[in-house]
Amino acid sequence: MRINVNNIIVSLERNQDKEIIKEIEKRGVKRNNIKSIIWSKRSIDSRKKSDIKLIYNLEVELETPVDITTLKNISLAKDIEKATREPILSIDKEVAVIGAGPAGLFAALRLAEYGFIPIVFERGEEVDKRDITTENFVKNSILNPNSNIQFGEGGAGTYSDGKLNTRIKSEYMDKIFETLVECGAPSNILWDYKPHVGTDILKIVVKNLREKIKSLGGKFFFNHRLENIHIKNGKISGIDIINSTGEKEYHSFNSVILAIGHSARDTYRMLHKNGVQMESKPFAIGARIEHPRCDIDKMQYGKFADNELLGSATYSVTYNNRAEERGVFSFCMCPGGVIVNASSELNTSLVNGMSYSQRDGRFSNSAIVVGVKENDFGSHLFAGMEFQEKLERKTYELGQGYGALYQGVLDFMNNKKTTYEIESSYEMKKTSYNLNDFFPEVIVDNMKSAFEYWSKNPMFISRNANLIAPETRTSAPVRIIRDIKGMSVNVYGLYPIGEGAGYAGGITSAGVDGVKIVDLAFTRVKD
Ligand code: FAD
Repeated sequence: MRINVNNIIVSLERNQDKEIIKEIEKRGVKRNNIKSIIWSKRSIDSRKKSDIKLIYNLEVELETPVDITTLKNISLAKDIEKATREPILSIDKEVAVIGAGPAGLFAALRLAEYGFIPIVFERGEEVDKRDITTENFVKNSILNPNSNIQFGEGGAGTYSDGKLNTRIKSEYMDKIFETLVECGAPSNILWDYKPHVGTDILKIVVKNLREKIKSLGGKFFFNHRLENIHIKNGKISGIDIINSTGEKEYHSFNSVILAIGHSARDTYRMLHKNGVQMESKPFAIGARIEHPRCDIDKMQYGKFADNELLGSATYSVTYNNRAEERGVFSFCMCPGGVIVNASSELNTSLVNGMSYSQRDGRFSNSAIVVGVKENDFGSHLFAGMEFQEKLERKTYELGQGYGALYQGVLDFMNNKKTTYEIESSYEMKKTSYNLNDFFPEVIVDNMKSAFEYWSKNPMFISRNANLIAPETRTSAPVRIIRDIKGMSVNVYGLYPIGEGAGYAGGITSAGVDGVKIVDLAFTRVKD
């Protein structure tokens, strides 16, 4: 018999195991009847810095069954019933999957599990080669526009903090987490309230996931970029691929899954030229804020800052400009992480954040971004995307190369150029620049209002906090419109999925979208 014992609250200073057992006993379970305990969820309550608490939800297996009505605040653990599905036989077995990010990889896996043959075309390199290319970019400023922090095996998620928390709720989450663990992610992602993997482990996971897909019949082609799609009578009929030697290949396909991420601007333009229906969508831009990690740990955990049960501290801040209906918020927080140049186009620069599994770097960073509405910078489809591009090009020009702009937060608030050099995790060139003169007024004013609002916390808005800019690629600036089964509304057989399609944001939700659309479009519930 398995039972759920939820909401066990234990002070950080107590012995966790002993207190957990005591609490289970208090609820009516005899100690010698406990066979095993699995953590279903663990979260941290650090609201009261002098008494931080850990909160556990547990699944407990009992040696002998008991009458559940004799137990307090305990329920029976239920086996989740999963609908069994089968492939739709009329669909061609071979399915093209464009992009090997989380959405493409999980779609390919799901297809292969149902007996389809996913043929994955990825413009970037496989992860080991991509690593060398990316390092060459950081050291020598040589950018490969097809293989970089955004593009290549594992997609944008490979060089990331590997945060897996998401606001979406989906029956497919377990599938994603269990697969990640099977492919090498630590098992604590199954219970941690804020699970994360780290770039070092993600690279291993991505390789194992590729091998798993291959073992089920999938095929991978790296350095293969989708250049064009062929549409006949409203249906997809084939694709043009530029292969690793630069030659154009035509491949005939009736089903094409597009998992291109939010940075493939050339591909967006090609789709638009072919008449694929798209619309502009809101996104956000701003800068990374970076603090010494010890400041953030102290800010969040007070005297418990070094407690190993807590790890490096995360935070989340928001500010709402009600008059403008515009939000400013922290995004993609990387505790103990590094800021990286996330460029994927020649002569442009932008930043993002990533971390290693230990999250033990000297700094902690997070993007502070302002919501951008569809029509803020023009009303045509690619106005938002062109605005991103413009800022990225301007950064390259101001920094005279692949670098980033920096400014102390206090100097930004006082409209004053920073006159000193800063210490930062960002390895490439940093140029001091007054960001008041860089971003449009709407971004500057909202960021300043947010910093004023947050300045009641002097550890957050301090002389130690620096801005590294710009963060432009928080999510897709367009959406490729699809129907409820995930198919493009005007091109039969074309399935836009994941972040680039505008239906996901983050590793987990992109993976979930990949699995979900395969289920909806390529399978049906068994009779
Ligand atoms: P992507 O991961 O972007 O994958 C798209 C793939 O398609 C790429 O590999 C690209 O090379 C390929 N492609 C594009 N065009 C073509 C073409 N024409 N032909 C062939 N291939 C093509 N999210 C989180 O949840 N947690 C984090 O901690 C986190 N940190 C991040 C840190 C960084 C530095 C970055 C850049 C992103 C981070 N993200 C994070 C965001 C996350 O990586 C994305 O949301 C996620 O990867 C989206 O998945 P996707 O599969 O939809 O697209």
